[in-house]
Amino acid sequence: MIDYDVIVIGAGPAGTAAAISLVAEGRRVLLLEKSRFPREKLCGEFLTPECLPLFDQLGVRQRMLDAGAAIIRTFSLHSQEGARLAIPMSWIANRAPYAIGLSRSRMDKILIDRCRELGVEVREEFTVSPKLTFEGEAAIITGHGPRREATESFTTHLVIDASGRNGTFHRETGQTASHFRGARLFGCKVHLRRITQPDETGELFFFADGYGGLSAIEEDRTNLCFLTTERTLIEARGDREKLLDLTLRTNPAARERLRHAVTAGEWIGTGPISYGKQQSLPGILHVGDAGAFIDPFTGSGMLLALSSGILAGRTVNQHFAQTRPERESIISDYDHRHRQFFSLRYRAVSTLRQLAFHPVARPAAVAFLTRCQPLARFVARATRAS
Ligand SMILES: Cc1cc2nc3c(=O)[nH]c(=O)nc-3n(C[C@H](O)[C@H](O)[C@H](O)COP(=O)(O)OP(=O)(O)OC[C@H]3O[C@@H](n4cnc5c(N)ncnc54)[C@H](O)[C@@H]3O)c2cc1C
Repeated sequence: MIDYDVIVIGAGPAGTAAAISLVAEGRRVLLLEKSRFPREKLCGEFLTPECLPLFDQLGVRQRMLDAGAAIIRTFSLHSQEGARLAIPMSWIANRAPYAIGLSRSRMDKILIDRCRELGVEVREEFTVSPKLTFEGEAAIITGHGPRREATESFTTHLVIDASGRNGTFHRETGQTASHFRGARLFGCKVHLRRITQPDETGELFFFADGYGGLSAIEEDRTNLCFLTTERTLIEARGDREKLLDLTLRTNPAARERLRHAVTAGEWIGTGPISYGKQQSLPGILHVGDAGAFIDPFTGSGMLLALSSGILAGRTVNQHFAQTRPERESIISDYDHRHRQFFSLRYRAVSTLRQLAFHPVARPAAVAFLTRCQPLARFVARATRAS
């Protein structure tokens, strides 16, 4: 007897969306997560308007709003040269023309609680080992609890890997974030208070070797999240004020916003960051960042994580309902649908990234888009997942 229909590894937005969609159609699901929630996570914590209908499907939109999510109606891009491009959220979604800002500690907790409520078996503080074996129809997952006590194993028909960018089965593709020649990129995040920002506005600021965003979250806090190069981190030598001087404060608009800022949480860092599709491993269905990591500057990461999780859940449910489920045909069906829905968006973001980080093309592009609103609107929509 195989223990579970599906085992999902990782309880971020992709894994919880998959687990909720699966259990809603009667699958037996085990969700394994190495952390204990709530936990902080490096992320801009900006959820684009298209995430809201997905939260409806998962039954959590009202919970996100009740948790104090900040409402964001405009997103502005600021070049270092002083140009500003404002993107109203109504360009992206007509029905709910606002984005929200909510900390990952709250958002991910709401999603994992929803999984439990619907009958997903959840194990937190369980780290899955990268060794996966197959015996006939069963895949065998192993791992251990927080104190590395004895290893445990579970059998399942299908494994969904939702363990993120550097997750369980991380496969180096050799692709680094290379828009700054030869320089590896690292991310930093901290929560702040006393940011002087226009109401209901999220903002992205470009600087010489990276970019950073300021976006309101719950309890009058603002998320500051930025990417910069290893070179700059080394130059700052662990001095956070100096790091801000070398990065965000070189952008006049960001300097103004940060004038009276005080920290309201711990700094978190991550890197080096690489983009693009990860190599697929045979016998595993990959969702969210574990499948492909998209440049965070378009704020599409969580949207793609939620959408791909739901898509995986639906695909698996259809196979379980119609036929005797066959692992390889489920995976190839999912991969096919994923390409159909998302590959254009990945390409659009990748092209935009080349432009956004070209020192000569960027100011010209921002100036042009500022004057040509229909084109700016088209570009904003081209980066969306659905
Ligand atoms: C600097 C930066 C800023 C960003 N800002 C934004 C933004 O503002 N808006 C946006 O939409 N996106 C943003 N993103 C992208 C977004 O954070 C990701 O796309 C999103 O978190 C992907 O969700 P996921 O569920 O695929 O993976 P994750 O959220 O990474 O979740 C993976 C889960 O798997 C667990 N896990 C990993 N390994 C194991 C293991 N071996 N066993 C058990 N569990 C395991 C982890 O603990 C984690 O909880 C940003 C990313 C970066 C790097």
